[in-house]
Amino acid sequence: MKMKHTVAALLLGLGVSFQAGAYVLDGSSWPDAKATFHIGITNHGASTSPSGVTWNAAFRESAAKWNAQSKFKFTVDETDPSHPCAGVGSYPQDGFRNGANFHPKVCNQVDGTEDDYGNKTLAVTVSYVYTNNPEEKVETDIFFNDAESWDIYDGNARASFDFKRVALHELGHSLGLGHEESNPAIMQPTIGNTYTLQPDDIAGLQTLYGASGSPGDPPIRMSIEEPFNGDVKSGVSNFRGWVISKNPLVSLTLYRDGQLFDTLDHNGKRQDVADKHPDYPGAANSGFAFATNFGILSAGQHQYRLVARDNQGNTLEKTVTFDVERFDTDWVDDDNLVSLDNASTQIIGSREIRIDGLMHDGKEYRVILHWKKAKQGFDVKEITKTQ
Ligand SMILES: [Zn+2]
Repeated sequence: MKMKHTVAALLLGLGVSFQAGAYVLDGSSWPDAKATFHIGITNHGASTSPSGVTWNAAFRESAAKWNAQSKFKFTVDETDPSHPCAGVGSYPQDGFRNGANFHPKVCNQVDGTEDDYGNKTLAVTVSYVYTNNPEEKVETDIFFNDAESWDIYDGNARASFDFKRVALHELGHSLGLGHEESNPAIMQPTIGNTYTLQPDDIAGLQTLYGASGSPGDPPIRMSIEEPFNGDVKSGVSNFRGWVISKNPLVSLTLYRDGQLFDTLDHNGKRQDVADKHPDYPGAANSGFAFATNFGILSAGQHQYRLVARDNQGNTLEKTVTFDVERFDTDWVDDDNLVSLDNASTQIIGSREIRIDGLMHDGKEYRVILHWKKAKQGFDVKEITKTQ
């Protein structure tokens, strides 16, 4: 695994090329289909363009345009900027962080040099890749030539260059796209009146990362959140989770210890699931939950298996294995039959409470409570009959 760097520049002059073809890939891509830029963009000290829009806001908007077209996701962080020269000259090294800014030079972290922009060059994206097969991007940095005159606007090109479309082009290089010389494209090697993504750009992007929401996504996603694998349950508690599907679900069936237990409704509010999986219809109402008395199960290991099936024949199943701790009596109606009158407690370690001499329906028990993160509270870890 060796690192090398490649440089792609956007020219401001007229490009001359008659080569036929479609989108061009530079041979590398981001292995996890995501990248974060850490920006605090200023041009000669100003964070705002003549139009009044900040350079940061325009950069973010350009990243969002790419994000809308494939499974790839740029994150733009403005809280902790990374200079694109990090590691070169007087700029401290900051690891493989992606930066973007106006700068008088183009920094090369492999050689440690600061180079001039090429003739008529508006901006340069420097990519660092591991020479795996296929090559994996590990960092890209974007340099905007601060010797040029810049603004932010849509529509036909004006005397000042539109930063937003140039950022859109450079982010295309970050993604792994090269220059497209024949079809209309933001990835044309020279700047012009095109300021939005063109079908050729999107086709190239989707070749690298897949169309948004489609083929790579599984037809069904599901999670059982409680009980979780290895959980300890006692008394009345919850079974809960969520399920989302590209196609209508026809059944959600729960088995307990191999036996059919119930069919579940799944329309509980889960905005958090929708936020994480926006490409699944109905994700905001995908929760399932019911209360159940784990105390009716025998002490020891048990298993839930949940099977979801959609109307296309796709199925997904999840299994959780958990332990039950219980008193001999699974339900005590009379509170007077439970007593701590003669009990003693002891703190074990930092997060456990041991209770000896707890009386429950005429029998004596030792109970250990422990802090349980998933519950954000104390829960039963162990119930042992002592008399
Ligand atoms: Zn370019």
